[in-house]
Amino acid sequence: MLSIKNIPASLVFTLLVVLFVPCTTAAYGSPVAYDLAVSFDTKAAEITGTAKITIPKDQKLSLHLSNLQITGAIAEDEKGHTVIYQLPLPKKITIPAAATTQTISLSYRKHISGHGLNNISSQGITLLSDWYPQPEQKVRYTLQARLPQGFTAIAESETFPLPVHNQVATARSSRPLCAIHFAAGPYITNHKEVRPGLVLHTMFFPEDQALAESYLNKGATYIADYEQQIGPFPYNHYVIVANRLPTGLGMPTFTLLGQTVLRLPFITDTSLRHEILHSWFGNSVAIAQSSGNWCEGLTSYLADHAHRKEQQQGSQYRLETIRNYLSYAGKNSTLNLHNFHAAGHNGIKNRQHRAVGYDRAMMLFHELHEKIGDTAFRTALQNFFHRHTHSEASWDDLRKTFEESSQTKLATFFQQRLERTDIPSLGIGSAQVKLTCDGHLIRLTIQQHSNKPYEIVLPIDVETVEGHETFSSVISKQSETIELKTKGRPLAVAIDPEYSMLRQLDDTEYAPCWSSFLGSEDKLVVSATNSNRFAPLIKTLGDRSWNIKADQDIKNSALSTADLLFLGTESKACRSLFGKTPLPDEDFVLEVRRNPLNPKKVAVLINSESSEQSQQVARRLLHYGKYAFLQFAGHRLVASQLPTQGTGIHVEFETPLQGGITTELQDVEILAKQIAKHQVIYLGETHTSAADHHLQLQMIEAIAPQVEHPVIAMEMFPTSSQQALDSYIFSPETMSERQFLKASRYYEVWNYDFRYFREIFRFAQKHRIPVIALNLERNIVSQVFKTGSLDGLSDDQQQHLPENRNLALPGYSKRLSEVYQAHAHHSQGNPAGFIQAQALWDETMASNIANYLKKHPAATILVLAGSEHTRKDSGIPPRVAARLPVCQASVLNLSDSNIPDNLNELADYYFFADKTELPPQGKLGIILKETTEQEKTAIKITGFTKTSNAPEAGLHVGDIILSIDGFPIHAMADVHIAMLDAQPGKNYNVTYKRTEKDGEHIKTATVELIAPQALRGHR
Ligand SMILES: [Zn+2]
Repeated sequence: MLSIKNIPASLVFTLLVVLFVPCTTAAYGSPVAYDLAVSFDTKAAEITGTAKITIPKDQKLSLHLSNLQITGAIAEDEKGHTVIYQLPLPKKITIPAAATTQTISLSYRKHISGHGLNNISSQGITLLSDWYPQPEQKVRYTLQARLPQGFTAIAESETFPLPVHNQVATARSSRPLCAIHFAAGPYITNHKEVRPGLVLHTMFFPEDQALAESYLNKGATYIADYEQQIGPFPYNHYVIVANRLPTGLGMPTFTLLGQTVLRLPFITDTSLRHEILHSWFGNSVAIAQSSGNWCEGLTSYLADHAHRKEQQQGSQYRLETIRNYLSYAGKNSTLNLHNFHAAGHNGIKNRQHRAVGYDRAMMLFHELHEKIGDTAFRTALQNFFHRHTHSEASWDDLRKTFEESSQTKLATFFQQRLERTDIPSLGIGSAQVKLTCDGHLIRLTIQQHSNKPYEIVLPIDVETVEGHETFSSVISKQSETIELKTKGRPLAVAIDPEYSMLRQLDDTEYAPCWSSFLGSEDKLVVSATNSNRFAPLIKTLGDRSWNIKADQDIKNSALSTADLLFLGTESKACRSLFGKTPLPDEDFVLEVRRNPLNPKKVAVLINSESSEQSQQVARRLLHYGKYAFLQFAGHRLVASQLPTQGTGIHVEFETPLQGGITTELQDVEILAKQIAKHQVIYLGETHTSAADHHLQLQMIEAIAPQVEHPVIAMEMFPTSSQQALDSYIFSPETMSERQFLKASRYYEVWNYDFRYFREIFRFAQKHRIPVIALNLERNIVSQVFKTGSLDGLSDDQQQHLPENRNLALPGYSKRLSEVYQAHAHHSQGNPAGFIQAQALWDETMASNIANYLKKHPAATILVLAGSEHTRKDSGIPPRVAARLPVCQASVLNLSDSNIPDNLNELADYYFFADKTELPPQGKLGIILKETTEQEKTAIKITGFTKTSNAPEAGLHVGDIILSIDGFPIHAMADVHIAMLDAQPGKNYNVTYKRTEKDGEHIKTATVELIAPQALRGHR
């Protein structure tokens, strides 16, 4: 019955249990009469009481006496038989049935310790649990309480205010109840008539009088509204009572709201409304013993959901509810709705149970409402209430009433949602549009991914050129094809756009929030070196599920398999995923991101300025689970952000058109002047596009003369090639091109034709422009890719890698996952390794550029790299910017590629360079393999292409190639160098070694070169 949603945790943390006392109704006969008389010693925090219980003949009675000090007990029957009980009594006693009426009298005292729900002080009294001998069945209570001077009291009663005579207040319940609850204090009462025969009261402390009016007004409005919707209020009065303890509880005829809770501005809209509604559902219509708890879901739907819907936030609230459910119960919930009875608020088990009992049930009622329509839904609620007022009802009773009002069979609907622990998982398999003579026809295949499909009424929204058209379709199979006719040309289709059911969210709808971590069963907590400032957080929130590790003990491979929490963003582990994170050092900041190594996991980054600051928020944090960003200054929330709102599962038929203004096109001279003003200029390429390389040359030619210190930086060489580059540029007389290619290991690292860069190198030599190598060693990249982590690298290798690596740049890990998926069938390794390897690559290039500029501040760097690396959004440029404030520009050629629709995120300048090709390279048509012969690598013939002239020239499979065109061959790279300028039709001499029976022979064959086959594009 309690709603503590939206109440900051600091105010409700002592509230642990639902006041749900399970008890039975006497099967027959008149009810037991229970006369309780109590008095208080507020100084000693003590209650003294006597209970006189009259048990009709043939009935037995069990009493719970735990936590009470029983000072006397006598039982008598009508014939005058008396039993005096021996003290002390056990925790539970049972008085057997007798042939006559029996009376049992107990006297007791109890000291209220100050923990839990009970309180006795001169400031006020609250008695909610274990404060009198508690019967196991419903009884009819009369309570007489001797009040301290100046106190007013409340308990479940037929009338209010309670009659007071000689300081003794009397409460009398007309109907049998499971339990009674009592509060008294120096209250001031106010009241408002809702309608004749129904009065709403407040009992607030004198200091809170200003609040009474708005509580009475709002409360009266809710009661009037719900009377309209459901039926007459089941009591003749209702009292809103302030409690010194921070509670939010609903009892028959009154609610107890914490004094600090009452003062929060939103409570009238949330908790008050929820508790008032419990008068109908929960208190008047109680939950049947045999049934699961239906009343929290129904109350959440008709109060909390209704409130947000009135604010035009219905679908937002449902998505928040779904996200909360997925965080706590989404993965492997074993609880179904049938078995939910009650749940407290704290601890992960309670949260899992609440996700089922509140969230799942709330969504059930919304789905049902949508399915049967408003009229049938409201009629059913009225009939259900009318039929079960002041008695009990079950899920089955609800189903029958809804079936009756809607004339629809709902057995499957309820059975699937009450008994199953999984939830629907939907997707669009395919979507096609056809033009027909009277409109457009959409053919949509809907898939259900769960083993057993659900029966669902699926809302569908189609966006057309003329506006939105909505449909709904019943689906019940694993895969179902639906046809929709629209008047306007369809642009996009969305299924379940307003979150009308509890279901799995697809990739575009899922957005991690703080509860995604809190609900995880796979938590890895990384504490930075100086982590004392987080101690209060670990103490309050941490439980056995928190696997806390110090930064230096974290293995790189562990980061991709868990939901991560970084306490302090300066740890090496944090910087290896997010670079140097710009979280503020002041205040307390919590930011939730996706784990870039595993899209199904989250990473939460927390910074706190001090241990005191952490202490101030630790308890409250649990109640902000739906947020993706939080900032507290002291105890004050100064900034917050929810995850983005989703709009259903989408397919688009047309992408938005883009265009440009032709008069804004510029000549290369003008653009080159502008571009030359930047200090780092990226010239992106598709590696096999001659046009892209020609544009690079033209840019270098145009920009180099305009700047003081031009430098060319190349992705194509690892830093270990730098010496060869320097020799080749500055002492070309000492090094031929073939020698350079061999010394720089060009063909070992890069597999693309060197002729693409030949003219650029000639220009650099002529003008003595340094060429610097940017890349890291290939074996590091491939090792990380294959093993999935950096753990296998040597300490020395690790030391030379950049520590700050940002894998969370916009779209970065998503883009790389897609590349990985596209190539997954022929690559080993794993996605996390692929993303880490690419990030190492990008960050190393960025770090080399930044380091060069730190040493040579006057330099202008022209970067030649693949166009994925030169992207402004997530390539090298933002990584250089994170290291050094410099002015950068990214240049792209569009004529050779598909024009991307996010061009402005990729590049600053674009050109339409003429298509061009390298001269065709003649081929020998030999299939070669690098082998080892006498401990040296050797190149062996393993086959020939169909059109090859080599077999005719005398070459055999198994021959070892020694030289081509006079160039010695020791490795595959040498073959590339030898063939660099080969022309089809020319004759090349091939010297080879052949092993025959009589020994080895060295021979030479003359092979006429054939024309190459078409190249495949690669970036
Ligand atoms: Zn409730």
